[in-house]
Amino acid sequence: MKNINTSNVSIEILDCVPVGLCLLRKDFVVLFWNSCLETWTKIPRTEIVGTNINDRFPHLHLPKYQLRFKKVFQQGVTAIFSPQLHEPLIPCLLPNGKQRIQHTTVNPVPAFEGEGFYGLLAIEDVTNATSMLTMYHKELKERKQIQEELESSNAELEQFAYIASHDLREPLRIAITFSQLLQQSYSKQLDAEADKIINFIVDAARRMQALITDILEYSQVNKNKQRFEPTDSQEVLETSLLNLKLLLEETEAIVKVETLPKVIGDKLQLVQLFQNLLDNAIKYRNSNQIPEIEIGAKAENGKWLFWIKDNGIGIPSQYFERIFKIFQRLHSREEYPGTGIGLAICQKIVRGHGGEIWVESEPGKGTTFFFTLRGKESSPN
Ligand code: ADP
Repeated sequence: MKNINTSNVSIEILDCVPVGLCLLRKDFVVLFWNSCLETWTKIPRTEIVGTNINDRFPHLHLPKYQLRFKKVFQQGVTAIFSPQLHEPLIPCLLPNGKQRIQHTTVNPVPAFEGEGFYGLLAIEDVTNATSMLTMYHKELKERKQIQEELESSNAELEQFAYIASHDLREPLRIAITFSQLLQQSYSKQLDAEADKIINFIVDAARRMQALITDILEYSQVNKNKQRFEPTDSQEVLETSLLNLKLLLEETEAIVKVETLPKVIGDKLQLVQLFQNLLDNAIKYRNSNQIPEIEIGAKAENGKWLFWIKDNGIGIPSQYFERIFKIFQRLHSREEYPGTGIGLAICQKIVRGHGGEIWVESEPGKGTTFFFTLRGKESSPN
């Protein structure tokens, strides 16, 4: 077998690592200088080994370095010079003239001669990682700023909607009262055309009142402090069904429910969410069928995925997004009553709970609304 000179092999290996390595004796004399450091500093090993490193790099005389080196040499305590705290320990320029950003560890190595320790400096070039980190932090800061601006403009808009709708209610109430008075007191004295016009006015004013009430309700959804707490969604559903008892009985609706989980949420808002979706499932039923509604939930991706499925008239796929926008409806009021606020409120509630809501449907066959909520534990899976 061929004899290998292990000390040469070790040095060759140390010369291959992309980390600057330097072995110092306790009198700061350089014992080893690897080829990575030769490249970075342009100082050849032959020139620096056997000389005092402090003469080459005078900043190492600073107490912050001397004190920590002393601890390495005398007590064998590792010293770390992170880029955030220190100047580069061994200044090495990049080709563009900028300083390399370094992370240096000075590890104690039992001294080959005499007592105490030598210090093995391992110098890593963290320039790229640091600039990536800086960019990442900058991006994060910018994103946070945009988010804050968005939140503040949203809050302003909500405040505006609240004030506008709140203050509009009073003059509207007066307009309705007086047009009704006009209708009652003068209906016999005016001709049929005038009666029709008064009816239009009363009807339009009532519609406006309903819309204003809806805007007010929508703007208030996340305004009052929500109480996010462990909530049994089974109980939430039962309350919603109780609120819709009359409608369910009138339509002889069949409701199938799987056991529902405990979630984190605001109970009142969740009741409203379930109730709006169940109300729609009955309202948009096929005229020739008894409404059948299935409600269930399963754990998915660390959240609970709920569904409410009906066998109603369905929704064409091009409207899947539009229906969640405020006041967007697919039918006239004569066909189906409503103002188009229900799903917008559902979306606001679900998003306020950190979830998402979406729909899948086939016209004529039925619709399924899906939404996600956080579980009682952070991950239900
Ligand atoms: P509204 O019921 O007052 O119109 P929503 O915001 O609750 O307001 O619903 C918006 C529209 O979405 C409805 O007008 C209807 O066209 C459609 N939609 C909602 N739920 C269903 C459903 N379960 N089946 C069919 N269409 C639905």
